[in-house]
Amino acid sequence: MARQIRKVAVIGSGVMGSGIAAHLANVGIPSLLLDIVPNQLTEEEQRKGLTLEDRAVRNRLATLALKKLQKQKPAPLSRKSHVHYIQPGNLEDDVEKLAEVDWIIEVVVENLDVKKQLFEKVDQYRKQGTLVSSNTSGISIEAMAKGRSEDFQAHFLGTHFFNPPRYLKLLEIIPTKKTKPEVTAFMKAFAEDVLGKGVVEGKDTPNFIANRIGTYGLLVTVQKMLEGGYSVGEVDSVTGPLIGRPKSATFRTLDVVGLDTFLHVAKNVHDVVDGEEKDVFDPPVFMKKMAENGWIGSKSGQGFFLKQKGENGSEILEINPNTLEYEKRKKMKAPSIEQAKQAKSLNEKLSILIQANDRAGQLLWNLMKPVLIYSAEKVYEIAGDIKAVDDAMKWGFGWEQGPFEMWDAIGVASSVQRMEEEGATVPSWVKEMLTSGRERFYQDGTFYHHGEAKVIPINGKIIHLKALKPERVITKNSGASLIDLGDDVALLEFHSPNNSIGFDVVQMINKAVDEVEANYKGLVIGNQGKNFCVGANLMMILMEAQDDNFFEIDMVVRQFQQAMAKIRYSQKPVVSAPFAMTLGGGTEICLPTASIQASLETYMGLVEVGVGVIPGGGGNKELYLRHLERLPEGANIDLQSIANKTFETIAMAKVSTSAHEAMENGFLSERDGVVMNGDHLLYQAKQQVIHLHDAGYRPPTRKKIPVVGETGYATMLLGAKSMKFGGMISEHDLKIAEKLAFVIAGGRVAKGTLVDEQYLLDLEREAFLSLVGEPKSQQRMQHMLMKGKPLRN
Ligand code: NAD
Repeated sequence: MARQIRKVAVIGSGVMGSGIAAHLANVGIPSLLLDIVPNQLTEEEQRKGLTLEDRAVRNRLATLALKKLQKQKPAPLSRKSHVHYIQPGNLEDDVEKLAEVDWIIEVVVENLDVKKQLFEKVDQYRKQGTLVSSNTSGISIEAMAKGRSEDFQAHFLGTHFFNPPRYLKLLEIIPTKKTKPEVTAFMKAFAEDVLGKGVVEGKDTPNFIANRIGTYGLLVTVQKMLEGGYSVGEVDSVTGPLIGRPKSATFRTLDVVGLDTFLHVAKNVHDVVDGEEKDVFDPPVFMKKMAENGWIGSKSGQGFFLKQKGENGSEILEINPNTLEYEKRKKMKAPSIEQAKQAKSLNEKLSILIQANDRAGQLLWNLMKPVLIYSAEKVYEIAGDIKAVDDAMKWGFGWEQGPFEMWDAIGVASSVQRMEEEGATVPSWVKEMLTSGRERFYQDGTFYHHGEAKVIPINGKIIHLKALKPERVITKNSGASLIDLGDDVALLEFHSPNNSIGFDVVQMINKAVDEVEANYKGLVIGNQGKNFCVGANLMMILMEAQDDNFFEIDMVVRQFQQAMAKIRYSQKPVVSAPFAMTLGGGTEICLPTASIQASLETYMGLVEVGVGVIPGGGGNKELYLRHLERLPEGANIDLQSIANKTFETIAMAKVSTSAHEAMENGFLSERDGVVMNGDHLLYQAKQQVIHLHDAGYRPPTRKKIPVVGETGYATMLLGAKSMKFGGMISEHDLKIAEKLAFVIAGGRVAKGTLVDEQYLLDLEREAFLSLVGEPKSQQRMQHMLMKGKPLRN
């Protein structure tokens, strides 16, 4: 029988164990969360008259971990109720249950003896064939398996999740010589397809791949900062997004990780290597002092940075590594930074910075050089190939490019020459590559591997839109393109600024549906930008409103509504594939599609009230309809509660923090799906189009819609009025709420009246137009455009 993971035992309920159990819950896999039995009662337990024999006490650690999970931010659970998938227990009373699970993952303290003792017990209770893995960050996998049964060793490997497990894409898999290849292959596929991870296979070496290179990179950065007399803030201002790294750059990343954890990880390597490498992994004295002082970062309230209340609100200070005093945060200023900021691509930015001879250029070259060389030196010791190293750094540390990709970006030949001129030793295989006539690590779908061009394996579940362009573009305009995905499926991609919806996008929606109805099985609406779509083009609306061009706005809204109806009633299935921010108009585009295939990490919401208006593209009606359709035909419908729920969701601009929460809020329904691996999103959406088409897709029929009418309007407003009375919302909020309630209620009709869709759309458009004309709504729009956040006025 094919291997399956139906239930998991997670041993260790700390930061990582509870996070892993939560992520398993997110994908619908139940787990047992086990920890040690406490040997002392807490005061509260004593007060309650409990003894050490009570189950509540014996399960205390895991039970507490579950409580914490529900409060943690960012949320480890994609839906609070998922916590029920996790059953707390302890390693004495529940140890026999290890025989009931398909995978046992060890996530206890980082200590070889503790882990070995635990595995001895696991070996005793597991049934033959059960997978066992360790989440260690750096201890040898082989050393942990020593002494265990043959069957245990054949099914044992390292599975290194990164913190937090729901959000960090990387999973390092570390098989030993004795791990069965079937087990490694299964775990890789399971982690990718079911858990949605990016999997990299590493070798059993200290800290595996990402932490080995990442820790080295961080320590080299500190070293170069000290040598060059830069400040902590200066370093962070150039080691973040400017070079394709996360906003938290170097030192804020360390503050988040915690200096204690970081020093521990560095020590792992320091203890087992020699020479120059050992020196790098010995952190500078000032960092050790910081740790002694307890200044370990966010956990302790201060680290490299300290947030303090100043005269003008809170301000952020940075530590001076020489004096250990906190000072005003500095930012680096250099001509190359300004120049790089103008550059279009990361490659261009990196080239500009590396070649610059100002302070920024010098620092970046000095810290990139050793990381590139170190990656080349270590690649075959820690990983199978360069791609594994690049993937690990991108998925584990959020780098836009891995070290070998960066090296390609700055030019391998010229940088190798410069490195050698400066006295550095470049690993011979890199030079061999250059002498062989190959100039880049990656080219034409291959990467350099031991003297050969290895073809990058194609994963059928990953569609790269970039690779399909321009050949497969059917038609395009400034805001969107229609692309042939193959297998008779087309895709509509937005590529306007922030993927916002303007006139061009609306036009392309109409064209796309026409084209698909004539020539394709169906349409996917999706893209691979930062966000699916942040809503309508506010700038355009505001400008027209300020010029009193209400006729124009009316026309645009009308066309948007018509485009949404076109999607809804298309003869061919339209499937939307939202991910990340899917706001306002972005949500409105998804609601009328035949099916939504949403990435787990989709943040959906009708947030128009934040900019002083209500949804104008049919979103009010669509959300109402989705709630209505949830009820079985002929059921005794409580229309008012459906209207109330729709009203609350829109009036409070609720944004779901996951696709599962979007389901709770009514944006997603039974006919929709949640895709765990964001990289598989377009593929899954395409499969859904084919499935719907081949099953004989028919568009929905136009039906009349029952509304709550005038009495329902009053009921909806009751809550809003009392909030206004209590000072919780402003006068203008109430005005918007009134318009919204009127639209959802279906205007001045009797409760239960059946109305046309077009009637509701007309009400919506009128309300939208009247709000756009309000000065306070325009102020909200302006504020959003300038500051990126809503104004409450
Ligand atoms: P933690 O201290 O938060 O949790 C460890 C848990 O293990 C605690 O609940 C503790 O009660 C339990 N425990 C201790 N001894 C035990 C025993 N003998 N049997 C069963 N349970 C026992 O630690 P953590 O950060 O969750 O780390 C756990 C593992 O994951 C470590 O191996 C660590 O290196 C690794 N890891 C941590 C991170 C991270 O960022 N924290 C990231 C990746 C990997």
